[in-house]
Amino acid sequence: MCRHVGYLGPPVRLDELLLRPSHGLLEQTWAPNDMRRGGTINVDGFGVGWYGAERVEPSRYRAAGPMWADENFAALAPEVSADSLVGAIRSATRSTSAERTACAPFQSGRWLFSHNGSVPGWPDSLAELAEKLDPVRLLASEAPVDSAAVWALLSQRLSDGQAPADAVRDTLVEVVRAVPDARMNMLLSDGNLLIATTWTHSLSVCRTDSAVVIASEPFELPAAARGHRDGSATADSPWHAVPDGHLVVADREETSLTPLPDIELRDS
Ligand code: GLN
Repeated sequence: MCRHVGYLGPPVRLDELLLRPSHGLLEQTWAPNDMRRGGTINVDGFGVGWYGAERVEPSRYRAAGPMWADENFAALAPEVSADSLVGAIRSATRSTSAERTACAPFQSGRWLFSHNGSVPGWPDSLAELAEKLDPVRLLASEAPVDSAAVWALLSQRLSDGQAPADAVRDTLVEVVRAVPDARMNMLLSDGNLLIATTWTHSLSVCRTDSAVVIASEPFELPAAARGHRDGSATADSPWHAVPDGHLVVADREETSLTPLPDIELRDS
């Protein structure tokens, strides 16, 4: 299954955070450690969305091929610094599109979204839920992939004004009620918040004195993200595995972990 990472902290170059680290997202394309059910490598595309100082909306780079083979991204990454980002590498779910637009992060306004998992039976299995969507949102849905449908459901809630953590939780609950074997590790950011879920896949959190990182798999943080606020660096980067069935909400100051509700499954 795909891998994703969310970062809030001091500005880091994209290559420092994603390409260079031992077991960073680049290494996880060919050697992920904890894929659980489905998929062995993550070479069906990738994407990075990052927030800069100048604009409220993030910038994005996405491509259909493997991250390791993308010379443009390798050239761009050392030139870009960001203090918040969402990155994702893709192992495409069967019967989904292999296009660039099917790669996370998906975007709406200032929001970035990644989904690590699958919704079996999509699109039919989500037809009932899709009826609640604004038809324009459906038409604008980015790509023929289950994750884009999940994003349509979640972004509708956000644009209706629901609090982001509640919107993430309620989207997971409605999808899992409709499709009990859905795998639903989600990651949402607006550049100031990271909200993630664990629903069958791996996720770890690392908070240092200066940064918080949420990632499918732990990796070695760059010095800037390990640094103390006084400028000194620390060698240890304490990663903590998030138990399954949890909602993680992190901002620049604190992280909270809440169990997701027990879901009454329609068909079981
Ligand atoms: N279902 C999503 C896709 O096809 C996510 C895949 C995954 O997590 N491996 O892109």
